[in-house]
Amino acid sequence: MTDPQSDSKGQPGLVPAALFGCCPRCGARTLFDGVAKFAPKCRACGLDFTQFNVGDGPAAFLTLIVGALVTIAALTVELKFSPPFWVHIVLWVPITAAAVIGSLRVAKAALLIAEYRRNAGEGQEKK
Ligand SMILES: [Zn+2]
Repeated sequence: MTDPQSDSKGQPGLVPAALFGCCPRCGARTLFDGVAKFAPKCRACGLDFTQFNVGDGPAAFLTLIVGALVTIAALTVELKFSPPFWVHIVLWVPITAAAVIGSLRVAKAALLIAEYRRNAGEGQEKK
C-alpha cells in the first residue's frame, strides 16, 4: 500500500477499504447493512459506526457530478448513433441510479474511514 495517510498496519488503503466497505478498525467487510446504508456496528469487532456522523452531505454533490457525466455520455450516444428515444431511457435511467448509489456508497465509506483514522468528531476534544 502506498497510502501515506494510513498509520494502521495491515489495513487496506482508503480507496479499496471504501470500495469494499471495510470496517476502519478490523478491516472486515461489515460497514454496510444495505446498498448505501451503514450497519449500526461492526459484526466482527463491535466498533460502533453510529458515532460517525457522515450524513448525506456528499449526495447532492455526487448527483451533480454523475448527472453531468451521464448528460455528456447521452449526448455522445445521441450524436454518434441517433438511437430512438426509448433507448436513452432504458440506457441512462439504470446507469444514473447505479452510478449515484455506487458513488454515494464509496464516498460515505471513505468519509467514515477517514474520520476514524484521523479521530475526527463533532467538535469534541480528545482528552
Ligand atoms: Zn470491525
